Amino acid sequence: MARKKINKIGIFGGTFNPVHKGHEISGIEFYEKFNLGRLIIIPANIPPHKKNYGGVSPRERLDMCRLCFNKYENDYNIEVSDIEIKKDGVSYTFDTLEALREIYPPYQNLIYFLVGSDMFLELEHWHRYKEILDMCVFVSALRNNNKTEREKVTEFQRELLSRGYKTEIIENNIVEISSTELREKIKRGEPESELLEYLSPEVLNYIKERRIYVL
Ligand code: ATP
Repeated sequence: MARKKINKIGIFGGTFNPVHKGHEISGIEFYEKFNLGRLIIIPANIPPHKKNYGGVSPRERLDMCRLCFNKYENDYNIEVSDIEIKKDGVSYTFDTLEALREIYPPYQNLIYFLVGSDMFLELEHWHRYKEILDMCVFVSALRNNNKTEREKVTEFQRELLSRGYKTEIIENNIVEISSTELREKIKRGEPESELLEYLSPEVLNYIKERRIYVL
């Protein structure tokens, strides 16, 4: 009997306030380099690690993610999911993974979880992180070209491996930007040409129409 093909499912969660080119480019590279069958982008409802800056609603963050990733729908199997936003309350990765394992049973699917290096290095502070590491393969993208960042990530990866947890580092095209920096740029009224270096045009239009991040 032919074996059922194992699907590789990628997950990329975050606040995405707003989603920017660092997210977009690492998400697409993650898809390609890991040969994913599906990528699920999951905006958090109330993130455990941070406040909801800018007065932006979860729905607006979800809309921006959809605007950013929908343009890939012909070539990639990408879903922007409201699983955490619909659930309300604090979003814990462990709970989300549990819910996803019902939809994508582990014996048929291999779950990869993309994080930036900052999140990767904080992994031990995540709620139920050991169980999370048992449930999926963590993939760290680099966020800046700084040599120490790469060294720290590699060292932490080695340490996790010595404890039996295999993780991956993706050699991504680094985009040195954060949502915090972008919110500040928008608030300062930086020119569109500057903002478009970091934001997709669809997302910038949405931000302009709704006048978000300006106050
Ligand atoms: P903030 O400045 O509000 O903290 P952020 O830019 O770090 O936001 P998040 O929504 O918190 O963005 O990030 C979601 C995920 O994307 C995290 O795993 C984060 O490490 C990763 N990430 C954020 N920015 C980049 C980037 N420029 N390159 C690669 N990964 C990134």
